[in-house]
Formats: sequence, C-alpha cells, structure tokens
Amino acid sequence: MKIRTRFAPSPTGYLHVGGARTALYSWLFARQSGGEFVLRIEDTDIQRSSEASAIQILDGLSFLGLTADEGPFYQSERFDLYHDYCRRLLDADKAYEKDGAIYFRAKTTEAVVVDDLILGSVRFPAKEMTDFVIRKQDGSPTYHLAVVVDDALMSITHVIRGMDHLANTPKHILLFRALGFEVPVFAHLPMILGTDKQPLSKRHGASGVDEYKKMGILPIAMRNFLARLGWGHENQEVFDDEDLLAKFDLKRVSKNPAVFDLQKLYWINGQHIKSTPLGEIVQAISDVTGRPYAGYEAHVDLVRPKCQTLLEVADHVDRILNDPDEFDPKGVAKFIKPHTRSALAIWVKKIDENTVFDPMRLEYQLRDVADKLDFKPAELIHPTRLALTGGTVGPGLFDLMMAVGKEACIRRLNTFLARQESLGV
Ligand code: GLU
Repeated sequence: MKIRTRFAPSPTGYLHVGGARTALYSWLFARQSGGEFVLRIEDTDIQRSSEASAIQILDGLSFLGLTADEGPFYQSERFDLYHDYCRRLLDADKAYEKDGAIYFRAKTTEAVVVDDLILGSVRFPAKEMTDFVIRKQDGSPTYHLAVVVDDALMSITHVIRGMDHLANTPKHILLFRALGFEVPVFAHLPMILGTDKQPLSKRHGASGVDEYKKMGILPIAMRNFLARLGWGHENQEVFDDEDLLAKFDLKRVSKNPAVFDLQKLYWINGQHIKSTPLGEIVQAISDVTGRPYAGYEAHVDLVRPKCQTLLEVADHVDRILNDPDEFDPKGVAKFIKPHTRSALAIWVKKIDENTVFDPMRLEYQLRDVADKLDFKPAELIHPTRLALTGGTVGPGLFDLMMAVGKEACIRRLNTFLARQESLGV
C-alpha cells in the first residue's frame, strides 16, 4: 500500500505554527516511506476564504520546503463532485432535506470508535451521534462532506490533523461508510501551548510562518523546531533533514500538549546557522535582507557562531563593514569609565605604530597597555569593541579588528575618542 497523506488548510488566515507542524508531519510521514503528499485548499466557505490567505499559506509551505506531490487542489472547483455524492446519499435515503439544508442520518445504535494512531481507541457513544448538515441552504457543501469525498477520491491513506478535529472524526467515519469508501487511518496531533501552558496565541510570539522567514529563521531550523513540537528522539535537539526522515515516528508522537518556546526556536536556529554550508548562509542573508553579501563570506563565517537569526548575522557583518553612527548607551554606561579615554588614546597609538597587523600581536599589545596602566584587559577590550562596532557583543576582539582592518580601526577609535570629548565623557 502506498502511503498518501494530505495537508488541507482552510484559507482563512496565515499558515500558523499548528498548521505548519501538521503539514510537516504529513510530509515526513509520506516521504519517509516513499509515499505521496497531497495539498488541498479547503475553500468551501466562500465568505471566510480568501485568495490572499491561500497564497500566504502556499508561500509559507514553500518557505518550509514542504513541496506537494499533487495539488494544490481547490475545493471551490469541485462542487459538482460534492453535489453528486450528496445526491447519492439522498437517493439511498441516507440523507434528507429539512429547511432547505441536507442532513446526513448520523443517528446510530452503535458507538463509533476512532482507532487513532497516536491516541489509540477513542470511543464515541451512539447517543452522541446526531444528524448533521452536509449541504447548506445556499447549496454549498459543508466541510464534513467535502473532506470525506476528497480524502476518499484522493486515496488518502492517513489523515493527520490537529486534535481540534477529533470530535469531527466519528462523523467522517460514518460518512465514509455510508458512501462505501474505505476509512483512512487517523492521527490527531496534540495541541500546542505557550510556555505559560495557555493555548498558543500571538502573545507567545507565535505568528505566521512568513514572520519567521522575515526574522531570519532558516527553513531547516523551522522544520527541526516544528518536528520537536510533540515528538522527540532520545535527547537529540538538532536534526537535519536526513535525521528527520530517518527518525521521525508518527506513532511515537505524544498525546500530551506540546509547548511552544520561542527561545528554543532561536537556539535551534543558531545551531543550524553554525552548521549550514557557508555559501547557503550568505545566500540566505542576502535573501532576507535584500542586500548582497556575496564577497563577505569570511565576515559571515566570523560572526555566525554567536548569532541566532540571519538578521543578527547581517547586523554583525554590517558592523564590520560600516563605521558606527551610534554607540549602545547601555554599553557606554557600563564600560566607559573616566580613565578609559586616556587608555584608548595610548592603545590607538600602538595600533598605528604596527607595521604588521596581526591578531596575536594586537592581543599582546593590548595586554601590555592594560598591564602598564594597571587595567584588566577587559577594561580595554569592551570599550574597543564599542568604538569599532557601536555594540557590546560579537566575535573575539582581535579577529574583529582583523576583519575591520587597521585603517578603519584607527579611524573608528579616533572618532569615538573625539565623540567622547565632545560629550564630555
Ligand atoms: N480544513 C481544515 C482546517 O484547516 C482541516 C481539515 C482536515 O485536516 O481534515 O482546519
């Protein structure tokens, strides 16, 4: 049996974290067995659906690299099919018309059991099953009818979706049976909560997938992070695609809610920024900023170990390339003391005297200046970094100085000294 999964978003908003995880799990589950992943836009609700949202969702999926083997199919283009199956149910007296709407006869004498791949057997007592609408008064099919007809006609073997759909599943099972279709396997994914254990919302920093793209999250980091929302493998936190495809196990997804932790996403992103081939990082920074970084590979490589987003990488490279216009006020307050100025003035002279510009020599000189003035090296290192970049974090100072270059180092230190003088610091 060839495994076929689908992602079936309603285009009523952006692609959020929950939807993105559903798409990823469906994609992984299909791909790891050589199966197929189908994309279907569920836009039967004409009022609530929008093309802009469909486009956003498709963009989000393409950022995540979750390409479909088939689709996107649009349910709005398949109304004839749903009408046809509705008619069949009416003809077989499995559905009836009331007040202009068509209802499916869902009343049963037996409980409906959902054999869920993650949750196990979930039993819905017969008394909970009541007739439901499959075609609205305005003639449009409901979600229940369209989803069942499509999952059957598209030969979906595994329906993977959020826990919020669990209550719909017994309805769907009855419809599959009434239409003579095979019932697919269901897997309902745990809900996602914020770190405060409340349902995930924008308050937790969760937004549309395109926001993560804009802030410089790598697609592989996003896949890695989403995969870990409800699933894990031993103590491993960092996964590449090969790992995910080899180790992901739908049956071992947790029943318990997953916790969305934005800090963890940043951390995972930082790990992938370090391990992704340099050329790809340079390309990704150029894409996200809209500015070319080709030619600055060495700078990117120097700054990336301490960065958690691509925007941070770009910012640090920019700080190497451009003289700072401003200096982090917190850094100034913390590191610039009354005696710093004269020490910096001596240090800049030393730098200027060098005929060779070399990190070990610079380090030796800085320590020597500090020593003679009875300073700790850090009391010169931090002010120097501030003068060179305007900031307080970044790569090791002497590597940074090499990247900035002798001339620019001297110029920036002198500018800083002059500024301090005019500010009376
Ligand atoms: N269209 C539904 C939604 O966006 C998903 C349907 C399903 O996966 O069965 O919530």
